[in-house]
Amino acid sequence: MKKPRLLFVNVAIFLITGLIALFIVPYEAFTHGFDSFEIIACIVLIYFSGMSITAGYHRLWSHKAYEANPVVRVVLSIGGAMALQNSILHWCSDHRIHHKHVDNNESDPYSAKMGFWYSHIGWMLREYQVDRYSDYSNCRDLQKDKVVMWQHRHYLAIMLSANFGVPILLGWLNNDIWGMLLLAGVFRLVVVHHVTFFINSLAHIWGRQPYTDKNSARDNDILAFFTFGEGYHNFHHIFEYDYRNGIRWWQFDPSKWLIRGLSFLGLARNLRRCPEERIEKARLVMQLQRSKIRIASLANGEEIMQKLQDEYELLVQRMTEYYAAKKRMMELKKQDLKRSYEKLELHHRYKELKLNLALQKEKWLKLNQLVCLPLMVEEN
Ligand SMILES: [Zn+2]
Ligand SMILES: [Zn+2]
Repeated sequence: MKKPRLLFVNVAIFLITGLIALFIVPYEAFTHGFDSFEIIACIVLIYFSGMSITAGYHRLWSHKAYEANPVVRVVLSIGGAMALQNSILHWCSDHRIHHKHVDNNESDPYSAKMGFWYSHIGWMLREYQVDRYSDYSNCRDLQKDKVVMWQHRHYLAIMLSANFGVPILLGWLNNDIWGMLLLAGVFRLVVVHHVTFFINSLAHIWGRQPYTDKNSARDNDILAFFTFGEGYHNFHHIFEYDYRNGIRWWQFDPSKWLIRGLSFLGLARNLRRCPEERIEKARLVMQLQRSKIRIASLANGEEIMQKLQDEYELLVQRMTEYYAAKKRMMELKKQDLKRSYEKLELHHRYKELKLNLALQKEKWLKLNQLVCLPLMVEEN
């Protein structure tokens, strides 16, 4: 089959910036060195342009996971243009198709099933799926956002000003325009390009699948560190409207922290979260499914299978009771103190259900671990 024609502008941009970052930047580092102002500027701009993509293009515009003040939207639109990944409108249109048709080689713009190279960068080097290029019908909501349309219309000017103007200005202040252009301009751009491209490539190949195996997306703590928190991609593909990707407090998700920080300052609102109960139940379903596969190969499988199924059903029941009580508690908290007796009663019940759930969870995890044991012995 004949390959689609090459997109020379894209090839040239990736090739030239890549070669400069790989050869000229290290040469400059060895011959002249970079001072701390240049290094700090580079790191700050990596985070600024990278998180304009993850917290802006991705979570704000593609998924509408929260709402942001117009000033924040303008700043994110400039940072996104600085990351040189096309306009918000175009990026979000591609990304919504990616979620809708994930892993479908015909429709997913960067389908992971096409391999690492294609999903990482290859999809941008040739004219694949031409009709996708100017059809923004899946982003009618974004076409009403004045900031999105302003950035789309003036993309080239904003992109060039951000990529050349900012480093030139900083370099002029630091008396070394060339050094700043190399480090905070080109090197920063190449780093942000590839770490964000990892979300389409590596985050669909490398890692665990705690929430779903219906698509190739993975959760990976190491990747999360390099992708401004987007490494929790398995969670993201099942609960895409959640403003968080790393839901635990200790999971590295600076994009989530930025959004929460903006909300704290009154600059963002309506942060959307998927109900905890749905998240927990998705995890359970995956655990049950995995254990069932393991048990199927055991001699006394049927008996264990029944036990596992019973414990699973009991856990689901405990979970439903607990979350119903929690919801009622939240509702009562909002009301006045007249119903304090009911509150007290419910509080006791809630505590009891919480304990029951914790005990059942422990039992469930132990049983799942036991299921793994015979296989580990056999493997050894
Ligand atoms: Zn994905
Ligand atoms: Zn997404």
